[in-house]
Amino acid sequence: YVTDDPINDVETEVKEWARVKKIEIDELKKQEQFRKEFLGNISHELKTPLFAVQGYIEALQDEGLEDNEMNRSFLSKASKNIDRLSLLIKDIDAISKLESGEIQINYKKFDLSALIKEVLEQMEFKANKHNIHLIFKEKYNFPTWVYADRDKIHQVLINLVSNSIKYGKAGGTTSLKIFELHDQILVEVTDDGIGIEEKHLPRVFERFFRTDKSRSRQIGGSGLGLAIVKHILEAHQQTITVRSTEGLGSTFAFTISKAK
Ligand code: ADP
Repeated sequence: YVTDDPINDVETEVKEWARVKKIEIDELKKQEQFRKEFLGNISHELKTPLFAVQGYIEALQDEGLEDNEMNRSFLSKASKNIDRLSLLIKDIDAISKLESGEIQINYKKFDLSALIKEVLEQMEFKANKHNIHLIFKEKYNFPTWVYADRDKIHQVLINLVSNSIKYGKAGGTTSLKIFELHDQILVEVTDDGIGIEEKHLPRVFERFFRTDKSRSRQIGGSGLGLAIVKHILEAHQQTITVRSTEGLGSTFAFTISKAK
């Protein structure tokens, strides 16, 4: 743009350039901070099971492998911690790929009702172990055609149902429901478990956030399940919300595009 005042023009242009650069630099600083925090979290999370394995192995060495029963118990505990490490690494890999945009969404048309039934079958063993009843109403016995990445929505459902079991109460129920919206399907996963305190609700989708650190860590999980869920849905331009009452239970609801 040209005025009668070239010096003023240059000054305006330089100011504009500086403003844009500052925004860029602030964004880079934010990303750097984010990366540092992520790495810090990761090493913290990996340390716990790793030190546990180290501890059990050292104890075995010290005991001279004489007490068979104790040895078996230490080995089984070490093995559980190694499982935890593998799970953590798998989830860290998933989330870093999702966060860097490296993951492709392979859209296709599929039957969501069939997928939900598949997930419930897969989770039945875990649910039985926790004495939790899984419900998906018979009225959904017809196909629900959606357009999304089937494997990734499978992961979303597994993570949500798995949480509803982990944080459920023995004798309780997890129920899945689907609702037709205009051009989307709304999926709800509801449990009557321990629920989430209101103050924690806005943070449950953050990576490594746990409402009760020690308890949630004992129950298992990487602390990344809901962050992965949120990223997958965002990559589909869809959303997830949560409502919950402490002591009564929680509902996680997400949307998915209907197939045309
Ligand atoms: P985690 O591996 O710890 O389960 P998630 O990312 O899946 O990690 O969940 C984050 C936290 O949110 C959990 O540690 C737990 O405190 C809380 N949470 C998730 N789902 C539920 C649920 N259905 N009921 C109660 N609390 C839940």
